[in-house]
Amino acid sequence: MKPILALNAFEMKDAAALGAALEERVRQRAKVFGAASVLFYDRPLEFVRGEGCWLYDADGAAYLDAYNNVPSVGHCHPHVVQAATRQLGQLNIHNRYLHHGIVDYAERLLATLPADLSNVTFTCTGSESNDLALRLAANFTGGQGVIVTEAAYHGNTALVTESSPTSYKQGAPPLRVRVVPAPDSHRIPQERLSDTFAGGVAAAIEDLERNGVRFSALIVDSIFSSDGVFADPPGFLRAAIDVVHRAGGLFIADEVQPGFGRTGASLWGFQRHGVLPDIVTMGKPMGNGYPIGALVTRAEILEVFCGRYGYFNTYAGSPVAAAVGHAVLDVIERELLMDNAARVGAYLKQRLAGLSVRHAELADVRGAGLYIGVELQRSSDGAPAPERAAAIINQLRDRRVLIGAAGRFGSVLKIRPPLCFTAAHADHLVAVLDDVLTGAS
Ligand code: PMP
Repeated sequence: MKPILALNAFEMKDAAALGAALEERVRQRAKVFGAASVLFYDRPLEFVRGEGCWLYDADGAAYLDAYNNVPSVGHCHPHVVQAATRQLGQLNIHNRYLHHGIVDYAERLLATLPADLSNVTFTCTGSESNDLALRLAANFTGGQGVIVTEAAYHGNTALVTESSPTSYKQGAPPLRVRVVPAPDSHRIPQERLSDTFAGGVAAAIEDLERNGVRFSALIVDSIFSSDGVFADPPGFLRAAIDVVHRAGGLFIADEVQPGFGRTGASLWGFQRHGVLPDIVTMGKPMGNGYPIGALVTRAEILEVFCGRYGYFNTYAGSPVAAAVGHAVLDVIERELLMDNAARVGAYLKQRLAGLSVRHAELADVRGAGLYIGVELQRSSDGAPAPERAAAIINQLRDRRVLIGAAGRFGSVLKIRPPLCFTAAHADHLVAVLDDVLTGAS
């Protein structure tokens, strides 16, 4: 399996081929960041400005952003920028004082979720949200056993890294973490998808218990982004969640990727599947670039944890975080971005499916709303084609269109633009992709 940070990554051994100026920039950075430096693309990019779905380099060249989900309502959206700067100029402190902004925001967020999920805890990142979720689940169930999908990524703390198989370049998660096959809709027949996934979860629970590890939680990202984008048929998650609940475990819905309207069908990805999580975690698109995260759960789950530990997060739930969170929801509502994700996403998917008729190497086009995966296969034998995916991603970059890679082999084109993506942007992306695919054949 390809580690997540190896997908579409620049390799330092290629630095000499960049030309003097770019090579110098890359080396300067590698010197200070050391082994942790990761850059995208064979020719790394440097931007100076962003607006809507566009990123601009120092020469003013515009790149169509069909990759970034953090600036979910559009790069530097003026409503969000104004909300943040206004509040920064007025008051910004931690949340151990009363402040109406964050309580209003918490109420607004909770109103979008099932009534049982009545308590919210703010964090700064998706990783922190998932770290806390796993701790809540362990304390509530008395178990340590966690189930994740095989190419899952849930964040970067010590605990969450252990539940993120794609973080491992060597070795594998500890035995209390069980890895199950993803619901791969390209390789598993649709009518068997739900039962196959649920069967994997049931087997993992049995295996945990057999090895003396009590089951605690299943954590999944309901759009299965790092696994390669598996969205359909809606509802396929239900059987697995039933298995989890029957075994006394909790279901943690990681909404860092599908949340805030991206799938077009509902604000939250789990709602597309008609399931009820015990814990919901959020991050990235929540703040459009400002670091806000959250965890939402039932009161009793939080109570068990808080009877044993405290939880305070200095920058979480600050007045600025609240102002930004409100502003992002304002934009999603006012600009009908969820509808846009549904409409433009369906259009883009249909246009990409059209391309796949002419280009046999596009084996599958799938996804929900503005989260689309395109599976690349070797034309000769249908095997996954990660090298080809990487080449296409870099050729698109050279033509100023930005996408990424996903999937356990790295053979899936990941298309995940800001939610203000239009049909014209979709046409541009498809035209450039068509060019790239035709050029190579
Ligand atoms: N969960 C999922 C599904 C993610 O994709 C990510 C980030 N890629 C995270 C959690 C972690 O979020 P963060 O990087 O903000 O900590």
